[in-house]
Amino acid sequence: RKKKMTLKVKNLVGGYSSIPVLKDISFEVPGSSLVGLIGLNGAGKSTTINHIIGLLRPMKGSITLNGVSLQQDAAQYKKMIAYIPEIPVLYEELTLKEHIELTMMAYQLDKEQAWQKAERFLKVFRLDNKLDWFPINFSKGMKQKVMIVCALLPKVDLLLVDEPFLGLDPLATRDLLNLLDKEKQAGTAILMSTHVLSTAQEVCDSFVMIDEGQLLASGTLSDLQEQSHKPDASLSEI
Ligand code: ATP
Repeated sequence: RKKKMTLKVKNLVGGYSSIPVLKDISFEVPGSSLVGLIGLNGAGKSTTINHIIGLLRPMKGSITLNGVSLQQDAAQYKKMIAYIPEIPVLYEELTLKEHIELTMMAYQLDKEQAWQKAERFLKVFRLDNKLDWFPINFSKGMKQKVMIVCALLPKVDLLLVDEPFLGLDPLATRDLLNLLDKEKQAGTAILMSTHVLSTAQEVCDSFVMIDEGQLLASGTLSDLQEQSHKPDASLSEI
């Protein structure tokens, strides 16, 4: 029997200094679901994601994935998650091929299988003939696609996607959404932060809405409209 996988964020208080940005956030992301993390600029979306990937430590509260926290077992926890950042971070001195190989090493993937997967994704994003390119030769969107390809290589329990649409053209956006949908069908829990509410409405199963570091509402779109006091105002502002 397969264990049900879920990300649980419980009473999270956290941020960058002693003054918390996140004041008391609780939500869950179940396996086989795409949850949209929405809120205005500065609401705390990236900060929430930074806590989940372990870049920041909770001041209070807990974050667990399938019952495992980063504090308990960092190695296991990190292998269960992959992350597509808002701003691509690539190594200037490594080629695209080397970035892919680095990912395979980090997640201890079977090279042959992982290359088959990589080639498929590289083709989708038209990067398959650019394996020997260095980051300096890539546009911002292309760099973002490299991050996407690397993040999709391992089979993880939780995929975090921070504001994916701003740098991607419409075609790449579609391709990414299709790939995310496949991951979801395969059981992965996906948390995606975004401002693009129209796209989020189209693809997300439910939402976590934060404002000034506090949970404003969560659930399906109709749950949100019920929970938030000025539904039209707060939803249309995002
Ligand atoms: P956006 O939509 O603009 O990306 P966001 O919802 O992702 O916004 P965060 O980046 O999480 O918002 O920022 C939440 C708060 O944390 C803001 O008040 C911001 O000023 C603060 N903050 C963000 N990064 C840092 C940092 N490195 N050091 C200190 N404070 C930070």
